[in-house]
Amino acid sequence: MTAAIEVRGLRKRYRRVEALRGVDFEVPEGSICGFLGPNGAGKSTTMEILMGLIKPSAGWASILGDDLDGDGLMTRSRIGYLPQDPSFFPRAKVRSILRFVARRYLVGSRAAINTRVDETLDLVGLTDLADRKVKALSGGELRRLGISQAIIGNPDLLILDEPSVGLDPEGRHQVLALLDRLREQMTIFYSSHILDDVERIADHIVVIDRGEIVEQGPMDRYLGGRGVYSVTLDVGDGDGVLRGLEHEPWVDEITPMGEREWRVETPDRAIAEHRLMRFLVANDGVRVVALRPAYRSLEDLYMELVGDADDH
Ligand code: ADP
Repeated sequence: MTAAIEVRGLRKRYRRVEALRGVDFEVPEGSICGFLGPNGAGKSTTMEILMGLIKPSAGWASILGDDLDGDGLMTRSRIGYLPQDPSFFPRAKVRSILRFVARRYLVGSRAAINTRVDETLDLVGLTDLADRKVKALSGGELRRLGISQAIIGNPDLLILDEPSVGLDPEGRHQVLALLDRLREQMTIFYSSHILDDVERIADHIVVIDRGEIVEQGPMDRYLGGRGVYSVTLDVGDGDGVLRGLEHEPWVDEITPMGEREWRVETPDRAIAEHRLMRFLVANDGVRVVALRPAYRSLEDLYMELVGDADDH
């Protein structure tokens, strides 16, 4: 695995608060990585350190193969960043803001830069609002303007601090769809509290609690894949059915869950829904009482890891 971000022993102390207490994690190149944790866990601090906005008290990090300690100017130009509270001049128009940013960061003819601005507006779905003033934008539109600034230079790595916070379902959906469109082009590292969204889009997670990483890795590892099904059978001859099932090449594992309940793991959902169902129906005398997905949600995992830490 090539890491787009690698962090080792990162510490940050603000006067009395130890915001990061030796943080280690990696974000694989090409992934969409959700950075999760309760309020005050240290997410913004980590991102600000990665962006070179604040200095760590100790530790080491590398972004896109470059040491954070070096001057990193070339690397900086390959990273897009959306801070938690971006601010825009309220009377400026969408297109002029983006042109202003593009002229500061991109090298090229005016025409080429304007083309890039138009492409970016299109990508974030703001073409129709290009002549609208910032103060007349909705929360979701404003967030997409923030993301458009971050991606104008076509970065290899995009770092977003809570891109969906405070948005209504429509705004969240638009941000999510946009991240999905960007996934082919760049590595995305983003913090979020909206676990449903992270579960839908991220392929990797890093969970931080009180300044320490409590979990990290590919999403599949935690959620046990999508093909884990729990089957409840009402049978005289349940054992025979199970023995038959055990021999099917598409069954990964069978675990007893109760007197008549077995958990059957299959490699994917399509297999569970088609082959498993067909197999059970073909067995006379067996009554399928329930067949339901049995995988944990990201929310279950998160609650196991950090519990009700948001209430501290
Ligand atoms: P998160 O983004 O996960 O909500 P932060 O990184 O913002 O967490 O904050 C981590 C901890 O550091 C919190 O306890 C917060 O109060 C503290 N903190 C953050 N910024 C500062 C600062 N500039 N001065 C003092 N303490 C800070």
